[in-house]
Amino acid sequence: MIAVTSYVGGRWIDGGRTVARLVNPATEEPVAEVRAGGIDFDEVLRFARERGGPALRAMRFAERAALLEAASKALHAVRDALLEASIVNGGATRADAKFDVDGAVGTLAYYSGVGRRLGDGRFLVEGEGEALGRGARFWGRHVRLPLTGVAIHINAFNFPAWGLAEKAAVALLAGVPVVVKPATSTALVAWRCMQRIVEAAGLPEGAMQLVCGPIDGLLERLGPHDAIAFTGSAATAAHLRALPAVTRLGTRLNVEADSLNAFVLGPDVEPGSETWSMFVRDAVREMTQKTGQKCTAVRRILVPRARLDEVGSALGEELRAVRIGNPALDEVRMGPLATASQLADFREGVRRLEASGARLLLGGTERPQVVGVPEGRGFFVAPTLLRADRPREALAVHEHEVFGPCATLMPFEDVEDAIALVALGRGGLVASAYTDDRELVEQLLLGLGPWHGRLFVGSARIADQAISPGTVLPSCVHGGPGRAGGGEELGGERALAFYTQRVAVQGDRALIERLVGARNEA
Ligand code: NAP
Repeated sequence: MIAVTSYVGGRWIDGGRTVARLVNPATEEPVAEVRAGGIDFDEVLRFARERGGPALRAMRFAERAALLEAASKALHAVRDALLEASIVNGGATRADAKFDVDGAVGTLAYYSGVGRRLGDGRFLVEGEGEALGRGARFWGRHVRLPLTGVAIHINAFNFPAWGLAEKAAVALLAGVPVVVKPATSTALVAWRCMQRIVEAAGLPEGAMQLVCGPIDGLLERLGPHDAIAFTGSAATAAHLRALPAVTRLGTRLNVEADSLNAFVLGPDVEPGSETWSMFVRDAVREMTQKTGQKCTAVRRILVPRARLDEVGSALGEELRAVRIGNPALDEVRMGPLATASQLADFREGVRRLEASGARLLLGGTERPQVVGVPEGRGFFVAPTLLRADRPREALAVHEHEVFGPCATLMPFEDVEDAIALVALGRGGLVASAYTDDRELVEQLLLGLGPWHGRLFVGSARIADQAISPGTVLPSCVHGGPGRAGGGEELGGERALAFYTQRVAVQGDRALIERLVGARNEA
């Protein structure tokens, strides 16, 4: 049995205490054990703050970029092993596994590029300088300096490789050491990534540590120059927000939580048009990719009332054709949910949507027909489409995220109504509008934009080029207000803000310009 261990203080630690037995969610066969214990969290933090931090801060951006490039190549070199781990531990099909693993490789490579562009500097300079007095000599400029503490990265179960990589890439590039805490249920993939990074990326000692299993007591030890980047449920986020380190000491906290992402079909879109096909294709992909276990998956599908039946039939036809089963088989398009508890939550969630007034069009809580698994085994569900004809009354469809292949179709009367319905989700990661009407796009941007971190506009002009809206790209921000956690990650260089302190430097212009200019030589 594989023992999933922790990497702290420059060595692998098997604390000997089994805290979880990981199973293949398709067959329920055991896959690995997560071992905890024997970790001194004071020592973990000291190692990061005193060894990893200074080593990273002494490097120039281009040097940190080289580390990220090495990490990206290191993961790419074991891509097949990572895909395999993702299939057996996460229930991902090969395509789903690629989404996670290639996302990790690509995001590290992308941030390596950002670092190369930042070049020889060790800190960031923001904007232009400004005269602050009557004359030209008293001058002000803004710079961003790396935090001198440690970044704790707490990841969700659904993207064990990408979650590890996208957070680590940004913190390391900023010059801040990281401690990664992967979700226990899919820790095998994160552990394999870390093994490879340790072996082949050449990170300085203390730059990156991995703690598998519980981290009780770690967060209580954080201070004002530390940061927590969290992805997961609103309930855990609420616990983190109340940590004394956060409330009293100013430990930074970024939250990426749940979201009831919406699709809006423009009234201008005719059945059979290119934009219509794109809308149907993307909705099906967003419902079924990673078995709907994506924070950016579509949960609400809003269409003009007159189109409800047609959209229901078009989606139903595609969703019924999705082959469900053992994700290790090539013909399978959708694997199981990741754990038994996700299955229980899914069923409970669907019942909750029904109780709120949505009716089932297909799927539901019953086990579907599956291929390639022993009878009765695995945490399988069918693509599940509900319909809420009175969406203002069926409030659960705007409030409860069913974390699986589940979405609710609903009508809107006009654009204001669509915007108001989407807003009932109280803040999301991404809203997607499908329309070729430019004026409508402006209305939707103004109406939906403030409630989201990202607005995707699908149209005939990009139908053959665009990737599906649930894909998070490192160059565009990821996060959202309100329910989505109020956080922000990625977005190119913007992401470094979380790990750096903005400082306004005021004084003699010549001195400041030399300092700022000298950042490259310092
Ligand atoms: P979760 O239960 O909150 O777990 C997330 C992470 O927090 C795991 O690593 C978990 O560790 C850890 N954790 C739990 N309790 C903790 C505590 N008291 N102190 C420190 N860490 C703690 O969430 P989940 O059910 O795994 O994830 C699904 C949710 O995440 C969904 O709601 C989804 O929408 C959201 N999500 C959001 C994004 C985004 O980017 N916005 C991305 C993916 C998922 P253990 O596994 O050891 O419990």
